[in-house]
Amino acid sequence: MNRELNFEGESPLLYLIATPIGNLSEMNPRALSVLQETDYIAAEDTRNSGKLMSFFKISKPFISCHEHNEEESSARIIELLKSGKKVCYMSDAGYPAISDPGSRLVARCLENGIKVSICSGPNAGLNALACSGLPTEHFHFEGFLPAKESERIARLNELIPLQDTLIFYESPHRILKTLISMAATLGDRKAVIARELTKAHEEFIRGTLVELSLLPEDSLRGEMVVIVEGKTSSQEGPTDNEIALALRDELEFGRKGKEAIATVSRNMNVPKNRVYDIYLKSFKQ
Ligand code: SAM
Repeated sequence: MNRELNFEGESPLLYLIATPIGNLSEMNPRALSVLQETDYIAAEDTRNSGKLMSFFKISKPFISCHEHNEEESSARIIELLKSGKKVCYMSDAGYPAISDPGSRLVARCLENGIKVSICSGPNAGLNALACSGLPTEHFHFEGFLPAKESERIARLNELIPLQDTLIFYESPHRILKTLISMAATLGDRKAVIARELTKAHEEFIRGTLVELSLLPEDSLRGEMVVIVEGKTSSQEGPTDNEIALALRDELEFGRKGKEAIATVSRNMNVPKNRVYDIYLKSFKQ
């Protein structure tokens, strides 16, 4: 176990910095003052972060730390932090480590006795979820689905039983293929496309997966999050066992076969012929 207050003691601390997902005025003022004080900025893309920092008139040496060099770069960042230098890490947009590099850097820092803190900011998935109108009590963050269709369908099949609202990231050139795969596997559930969040052309397109998959491709430009309703009880339907148990209750209550079948069919919203088949199998053999 390890327990240490982040802002007390002498151990070095890496700051993660969340950055705007479109609207630059969402840059957290606390993040700006931490960045003013830092010695180095490690970044997923030093050119993009360089532009962001020059907008805020912050000039610091950059260290590149992206998907393909995160391990080597982490070693250098850890050395700097251990030598007493201050280092911050930012990805291209939103939260580092959320569908972005950063989680390996955090893990390596913690293994090396370096504390980690974050300057909060926007996150595309949570912005979309909050405005979706779908249940927010429980949600599953999926991020990007695999680009290969067979792998995408396989992953979506694993998500079918989840009752939590689902959050997906997608790029404009794959959005329609993804919506079609979703409709085919998850069924025609309610869904929302949240497009260009925090930007001038922010848009929420609300409908069902089939409706969204029929949208014209050229109307789906820019950055997008797809929020999909979790599995609902109406999509589930009762199992044969549940129907047999309900029939037994009705029969034990004293109803005759025909009457019990009609009651269970009505109460459970299941076709009479299915209840009848289960009745024959369970009580007449
Ligand atoms: N780390 C980021 C976060 O915290 O949200 C996510 C980075 S991920 C590489 C980029 C994806 O996030 C995009 O493909 C899109 O699905 C989503 N995204 C980012 N900015 C967005 C925006 N302004 N509007 C809608 N979706 C956005």
